[in-house]
Amino acid sequence: MEQNKEQIESVLCGRCHRKTNHKILFSEQQDYGNDEIVGTYKYQVIQCQGCDTISFRKLESNSENYAPETGEPDVFETLYPERIEEKNATNIIEWRSYNELPPKVNGLYEETTRCFSQGFRILCAAGIRAIVEAVCQDKNIKKGTVTIKDKSGKTKTKISSNLEGKINNLAENDILTKSNADILHSLRYLGNEALHELEVPSTEELSLALGIIIHILDDIYKFPLQKKALKNVRDKAGKKT
Ligand SMILES: [Zn+2]
Repeated sequence: MEQNKEQIESVLCGRCHRKTNHKILFSEQQDYGNDEIVGTYKYQVIQCQGCDTISFRKLESNSENYAPETGEPDVFETLYPERIEEKNATNIIEWRSYNELPPKVNGLYEETTRCFSQGFRILCAAGIRAIVEAVCQDKNIKKGTVTIKDKSGKTKTKISSNLEGKINNLAENDILTKSNADILHSLRYLGNEALHELEVPSTEELSLALGIIIHILDDIYKFPLQKKALKNVRDKAGKKT
């Protein structure tokens, strides 16, 4: 085991979303080899000197991969958790624990934000759509009214079990405001394009969409609890609520 307490290297930070100085807190090296190839793995615990986040890095080099001009080995770096360099990506997508959410919604929320941080954009869009489906399921919304045009171009309404109908029903049941329901419809399009047309959404689109989802989840699950807590505090103090 080598302890390099003072060793500093430039590594991409998943929280700062850029290369920052990282202190190598711990490093363990393993060599391997046979008649054809020799190589080295280095396993390191590293810490960003900007935000203090601790993460893990694996470095691999071997006798087969090197720069022909210099003879220097190529070093392959793998970082855990994976991360992307995203200058404008999201201060909004903090790792936040969402204790207020039902487990299914929370699980999807975590997977979806993880897809975002790691640059899996189609899956992130699919996740956003799935979060909306999970909210409907949690609220026991199975169908709702949709407006369609018939062959002659006349509009009429019908009951549908598709996501459009369910979102409308969330609004009809006052779980969502009408304007938030309209916003969710636009996220539905985003998910449809990603899943059915395999259109890759931009990071900016996804970052905005996740911001909206967080706002709507707060609206449905967090604010009612906070309102209740505030009422309790005021009731106890004998104040008007
Ligand atoms: Zn950092």
